Amino acid sequence: MRPYILAENNWKTVKETHYEVAVLPWGACEAHNYHLPYGTDIIEADFVAAEGARIAWEQGAKVIVLPAIPFGVNTGQFDVKLDMNMNPSTQLAVLRDVVEVLHRQEIYKLIILNSHGGNDFRTMIRELGLQFPKMFLTSCNWYQAVDQKDFFENKDDHAGEMETSVILHLKPELVRPLSEAGDGAAKKFRITGIREGWAWAERKWLQVTKDTGVGDPRKATAEKGERYFKAVTEKVANYFLEVAKADRDNLYA
Ligand SMILES: [Zn+2]
Repeated sequence: MRPYILAENNWKTVKETHYEVAVLPWGACEAHNYHLPYGTDIIEADFVAAEGARIAWEQGAKVIVLPAIPFGVNTGQFDVKLDMNMNPSTQLAVLRDVVEVLHRQEIYKLIILNSHGGNDFRTMIRELGLQFPKMFLTSCNWYQAVDQKDFFENKDDHAGEMETSVILHLKPELVRPLSEAGDGAAKKFRITGIREGWAWAERKWLQVTKDTGVGDPRKATAEKGERYFKAVTEKVANYFLEVAKADRDNLYA
């Protein structure tokens, strides 16, 4: 029983513990090339949240990790079989209910640990912040916590070298041999502003990639995944710790 994982604890413990911050891991259930499982983003969210919370807890942060939400925004992958889209408006409704529970229980801080590029909680946080002014709501994308260039040869946008290495480290039994993986080659927008990154449009996934991957997975190893996971979770733990200890009325210096 890990004291920082809600689903592993009982009412007696929970009733008697004062928690400073809740962590909500948020994944997606979607195709990840031919070699990674649909649950890749959920596995990553669960493991990063748990390891970040473990380190933070040992440094005195009262963190409680909620069960991961398994469905992400997959509007661009509408034609990929069994990609389980949850619309942004539904996510807002789910998030509002979670925030309402925490608010009622006087846990005034929530961290959303996001694992999926299609999820974007910032506008939701703005709206819920108005409705629940006592709450400190924050989100992070763990995959942006450290520079992937320091760990991997090929850039990973989806199911590439980073994600494959991480799952080879965390759940190797769920990874098919890399010889079965597609090359993750992906087309880019013809429109210059979008290619440069300052303009944006959603990608129609199956027009961009043949194997659903965006990023070459073939140089992935468990060792790379382990080193990267350690670096990411150390940073995530520090973020959990800082949020736990932050004074909600004195956040700026
Ligand atoms: Zn993923």
